[in-house]
Amino acid sequence: MIGQLIDSLSDPEYTGDRRCWPCTLVNAVLVGLAALLVGRRWRRLGGVVVLGIGGVLIALRGYVVPYTPRFAPQLVDRLPVDLGFDHAPAEPSDSLVAAENPDRLVGVLIEAGVLTGDEMLHLEDGFAETWTREMDTLRGGSDREIAAAAAEAVPFDADSTVSGERLLVAGQRDAWLSRPVAIAETAGIEALVAAGVDRETAASAVGPLRMFLPVCPDCGGTVAESTIQNCCGGTKGIYDRPDREVLACVDCESVLYEFQPLDETAD
Ligand SMILES: [Zn+2]
Repeated sequence: MIGQLIDSLSDPEYTGDRRCWPCTLVNAVLVGLAALLVGRRWRRLGGVVVLGIGGVLIALRGYVVPYTPRFAPQLVDRLPVDLGFDHAPAEPSDSLVAAENPDRLVGVLIEAGVLTGDEMLHLEDGFAETWTREMDTLRGGSDREIAAAAAEAVPFDADSTVSGERLLVAGQRDAWLSRPVAIAETAGIEALVAAGVDRETAASAVGPLRMFLPVCPDCGGTVAESTIQNCCGGTKGIYDRPDREVLACVDCESVLYEFQPLDETAD
């Protein structure tokens, strides 16, 4: 009976791993205020009941105030303090090295025979094979081993460590990488160097080169264009928009490349 009630009330879309903490927080504050108001104007017991029911519903459903997902994340974003909500699954991965001049890099890659094609650039077959082979080799390693390989691949002294689901390569700056991106870029640098590109250029070219990934670095699956949605249509800062165009793995759903929205690249 109680189990059935809980089942019918609970909403997996907004709870568990998918719980949106800004929504939960805003609702907790609103329920608290409502309880206070009811307790003051009528009886203390009324306030306790409001608090209890509100709390249970937030726990089971993610939120109680209608339309919370439409306004809570934006509201929390505007608070003057950083509450440190962890949006790790939605947060994009860094690149090992920031690409500075993409146009020049494309020229270098065409010259090295890595990219080919007239109207639509694509990977040269031989290079795609080398890159895939390098990724196959790395894929068997633990996160720690992959982070260490990434620190070896960059053209400067770097330390590596693993924190939760992110691989950190700390050298000129801190690069926090997802495992698939770390595999893609480490293997990509080695493949580019093998194709005759100098390591410095290879390291800055490999981020944009992920746009051409032949297979999923983490599972070897098929790469396809896709759209990802954040739980409530918004997170933080520059990623505060409902949909993001990405390349993702069809099999393991890893996000492998994020297309930059036009308004951001225009700046
Ligand atoms: Zn995959």
